[in-house]
Amino acid sequence: MLNIVLFGPPGSGKGTQSEKIIEKYGLIHISTGDLLREQVAAQTELGKQAKEIMDTGELVSDKIVIGMIRVKLEENQDSPGFIFDGFPRTIEQARELRKALTDYDERVGVMISLEVPREELVKRLLKRGEETGRSDDNLEIINNRIDVYNRQTIPVTYYYDKMHKHAAVDGIGSVDKIYSRIVEVNGKVKK
Ligand code: ADP
Repeated sequence: MLNIVLFGPPGSGKGTQSEKIIEKYGLIHISTGDLLREQVAAQTELGKQAKEIMDTGELVSDKIVIGMIRVKLEENQDSPGFIFDGFPRTIEQARELRKALTDYDERVGVMISLEVPREELVKRLLKRGEETGRSDDNLEIINNRIDVYNRQTIPVTYYYDKMHKHAAVDGIGSVDKIYSRIVEVNGKVKK
């Protein structure tokens, strides 16, 4: 299996690049943000709880997202691998991902982090908000999401650094250019 953690701040292009990676490698895409939005749309109890938190830009509890990840792993045991998008977002989630994959004799091959400066993130997210009407893509919440990322999520890079699995990729440029940087990094990873 090839398991990739695609990492980066909100607006760094994880979703866009995930689509291209899936096409090339046939991986299953697991985006915790998308899974949570599905719950919100279906108006489940979990979705109602999650929406309140998502609308502030804070993180949903580790327990909830880890539970969703475990279900996805269980459902897709025959997959050639996974791309994790927007997860793990805390050290606790990274530890739990490791445990969950170990249960299937699997591991994360590489964590690719997309690097994009704050001004560019804000610009991209405001544009997305206008185009899609996504409720957390407004200036106040965007700023909080980036702060939360810097405070709670950046430490996840140190976790993968220690295991020599972290590769930083410049997230500025055309979609294709960034994608070719990702493919290059991935080619160097032992599967
Ligand atoms: P973005 O990366 O643009 O912020 P996401 O779709 O990944 O968008 O996440 C939207 C929101 O969903 C986050 O602000 C957070 O509230 C919640 N969320 C998504 N993934 C996680 C996660 N792994 N842990 C906790 N909360 C999450």
